[in-house]
Amino acid sequence: MENVLANEANLDLIKWLGIQSPSPLQKIPLHVDDAAVDVWCKRDDALHSVISGNKWRKLEQTLHICRSEGHTHIGSFGGAYSNHIHALAYVAHRLKIGFTAFIRAHPNSADTPTLRDLRQWGAKLICLNRMDYRKRDEYSYVEGLKAQYSLDMMIPEGGSDSISVSSVGSIMEELNMQSAVPFDVIILPVASGGTMAGLIHYITAHKLPTRVIGIAVLKGENYLESKVKDLLSAASVEYSTPHSPKWEIIHHPDIHAGGYAKSSVQLQKFKQDFYIQHQIKLDNIYNTKSFFGLHQLLKTSYLDPTQRIVVLHTGGLQGDRT
Ligand SMILES: *Cc1c(COP(=O)(O)O)cnc(C)c1O
Repeated sequence: MENVLANEANLDLIKWLGIQSPSPLQKIPLHVDDAAVDVWCKRDDALHSVISGNKWRKLEQTLHICRSEGHTHIGSFGGAYSNHIHALAYVAHRLKIGFTAFIRAHPNSADTPTLRDLRQWGAKLICLNRMDYRKRDEYSYVEGLKAQYSLDMMIPEGGSDSISVSSVGSIMEELNMQSAVPFDVIILPVASGGTMAGLIHYITAHKLPTRVIGIAVLKGENYLESKVKDLLSAASVEYSTPHSPKWEIIHHPDIHAGGYAKSSVQLQKFKQDFYIQHQIKLDNIYNTKSFFGLHQLLKTSYLDPTQRIVVLHTGGLQGDRT
């Protein structure tokens, strides 16, 4: 175990923003059929009142680079409810760094609570049509936008890049400090794969016995696995040696409900019951699906209830506002 925090350089930033570090680790007794199964919940939803859990984890090291290089204007991409854009806009506002958000939306489309917050924090909003938005990962397109809007740095959609892959390790680092015995399994929702790649990266580097189970929140068999592998390769992580940690992504129509931001009566009922039983709010897009997925994996005995299981609550509640 290491004593030095990977993101130690940011301790002053953590204090200044009021980030709760480490985030709480809480035991929750799940009701699976008639049995009670104890699992642990890493409450990254409680990291901060505005900054969404895993988006802080992914951005932390990038923000450190922004500050040490004295960047005054940064940009990024996202949808009109994006947790990433929301978190980044808030931090940029607090740090007095200019922020331009390239939003996948029609200029005349209805406003969202997310975009209203952005404006209030002084962000500049640029609407991109579907065709332009599709070019968000193309080098020449991004360079063009940087030049046109005088940006010092462009952060990719969702904040997922090779920097975020090492930044996310702070989750495992905290778990190492909070629990004397390593966890057998960590479960989390997967959309762009950045958070999952970050956990695999840390577990590989520290030779932990923890297995990583991602729950797909969208229809993306093979696609999501290749996203995770691409991010691991970009961060030079060996993910397929005999010593590599075990990781997999669960794809199930009852869990992803047919796609990103899609839901079902069953998922909505699960979310409500979960709140009544545990007083923990789950967002619709990510955590309702991952917590429901965990429940299903226990119910079908895919997971052994005697193992030490931790589920990562990634936050995201701002995105539920309508
Ligand atoms: C973005 C997001 C995710 C997905 O994380 P990826 O790294 O893109 O896979 C999960 N939960 C919440 C709350 C998010 O905002």
